Amino acid sequence: MNINLISKTEWKEGLTFKLSFGKQDPIPGESRPTAGSILLMGKNLGEVSLGLENKINAETIRKTGAGIAKWLHGYDDLSIGIDLAGLDSLDVENPVLALCEGLLLGDFKFTEFKNKKSRKPSTINLLGDKKVQSEVDQAIILAEGTNLARSLAHTPANIINPETLSDICEKIAQENDLGFKVLDDKELKEMGAGAIVSVGQGSQTPSRLIVMEYKGKSPDKKPVVLVGKAITFDTGGYSIKTKTGIVGMKYDKCGGVTVAAILQTVAKLGLDTPVIGLIPAAENMISKEAYRPNDIITSLSGKTIEIISTDAEGRMVMSDTLTYAQREYNPEVLIDIATLTGGVVVALGGVRAGIFGTDQKLIDSLIDAGENVHERLWQMPLDEEYFDLIRGGDSDFKNSGGVTTASSVQGAIFLKQFIKNGTKWAHIDIAGTGTINKSAAYCPKGATGFGMRLITEYIRSL
Ligand SMILES: [Zn+2]
Repeated sequence: MNINLISKTEWKEGLTFKLSFGKQDPIPGESRPTAGSILLMGKNLGEVSLGLENKINAETIRKTGAGIAKWLHGYDDLSIGIDLAGLDSLDVENPVLALCEGLLLGDFKFTEFKNKKSRKPSTINLLGDKKVQSEVDQAIILAEGTNLARSLAHTPANIINPETLSDICEKIAQENDLGFKVLDDKELKEMGAGAIVSVGQGSQTPSRLIVMEYKGKSPDKKPVVLVGKAITFDTGGYSIKTKTGIVGMKYDKCGGVTVAAILQTVAKLGLDTPVIGLIPAAENMISKEAYRPNDIITSLSGKTIEIISTDAEGRMVMSDTLTYAQREYNPEVLIDIATLTGGVVVALGGVRAGIFGTDQKLIDSLIDAGENVHERLWQMPLDEEYFDLIRGGDSDFKNSGGVTTASSVQGAIFLKQFIKNGTKWAHIDIAGTGTINKSAAYCPKGATGFGMRLITEYIRSL
């Protein structure tokens, strides 16, 4: 989809949509205008609804854009106009940005491996004032980032493994003038990063730690350091998943690819704050080299971990990366994002991601950013008593309590063992929100890119 902003006089002729809304709650029995519903009134005139007037917000405007994007999926190479008149009088911040996000996110389809080539992209001519150009430009960058994260998450494990993911991140870095390096399994082993190495040692493509660096427009500021879990495929290892539970495990890299997309996005937006993206990548497989339950692993921090479940591998690769983040950088804040636990799905479903952390101000700011972009969070507890669930026998602690009790908190309190006093840290568990199993307003079934717009919004607010 291409989006242009032009004045009404430049738009010669063609199908033009006007924005409409319902005035009040309809009388019972009458249909309620839903955001994004389309009414054609002739060859050259249509209406797209913003929903009910008193319910309009950025999210309903996104849905309005998505309604048009979906409608366009039925056509090839169509050029339409959308009259922006009326949008600026709504009590919504950056309504054009929201509309364009809805259009572009709603346009996403993962068709790379389909022989039947999809339609030619449509062109949207937004008819409005030039002063909203920056909203259009920002929306294009933000949607590109989210759709990049979705697309990488969809790409299966026979294409994306730790090594090829590293190549992809290097290309993103080159295109966006980012710093890039990668530590391979030998370097990680030498460094003492036993946790990240052990998870990947059963795979033909062993672990990598991918590093992307955005200097920022104010390079003297302390960086925001992001850690994103990228298990390129998770069989569960010897604690193997069931034949239904294993399907979809290509999505266990959602956190990592989201971090790569955020680095691209902050660079394209030219934000002030320096941002470091750390992506521990591993494939959790079974082989004679694979790690086992009861193995005791020495992590980069020196702390020892007994493996109770080889399927609790995400926290392993994250733990060494959190240590590395605090050792190598001096983070203003440290934020990790991961499809970490089934427990968070039980607690919150696909509506909100769980957030845990050591710094309430950071948590509150992330929650606010999430409300702004409709990638919503819910704070979960991290009381010390939860540590009892993973307290060690023969090691300092275990990688899992081996019980489902508070399992999302088990994951979080495990990670907390690697956070130094004074580090402002937040952990976002997207196991429930990273993918959806039926299509939503502006996201088809599969990866959502959750966290991309949220964390970018947070960094932008600094
Ligand atoms: Zn797992």
